[in-house]
Amino acid sequence: MPVLSSETVDYHYGKHHCGYAKTLNSLAEGTKFADKTLEEIIIQSRGVDQKIFNNAAQLFNHDFYWKCLKVSEQAPAGELKSLIDDQFGTLDEFLSQYVSFANTMFGSGWCWLVWENQKLSFVNTQNAENFVGTPRKALCVVDLWEHSYYIDYRNDRASYVNKIIRGCIDWEFCESMLNKF
Ligand code: MN
Repeated sequence: MPVLSSETVDYHYGKHHCGYAKTLNSLAEGTKFADKTLEEIIIQSRGVDQKIFNNAAQLFNHDFYWKCLKVSEQAPAGELKSLIDDQFGTLDEFLSQYVSFANTMFGSGWCWLVWENQKLSFVNTQNAENFVGTPRKALCVVDLWEHSYYIDYRNDRASYVNKIIRGCIDWEFCESMLNKF
């Protein structure tokens, strides 16, 4: 069985992800947000218009999540590999800590790998929250909402997290985010 079944991806992308896009489009129509970029909408609606923020941030987060996934297994290389080796010693230690940290999440949200103050760290965010417009640079994210694993793993979120982080991350994409902005 694949890490994510086609049924999971159909529902996750087709219903959830696209749902956020459709809702955001209808909420933004005719408002000051209509001609803004997604990042601008997230920054300007945060703490001000919760409905717009939730849909815009979820749209951003899902787009980011899909970009972090890759079917074939590979290991971090280049600059990201050096940072991991310097800070964690081994790739396995880094992956173990990422998996453990994701498993501490309570409720719906996201587990991020971020670059901040010249350091790699793991941070969970609740619901739709992300780091757009903040000093934290997101390198990787794992969706921890139940809809991302419930069809395939039922209540066993830990197995989903373990399989995604240890076998399905596009580390080349994550590394490319180090040098963005
Ligand atoms: Mn999701």
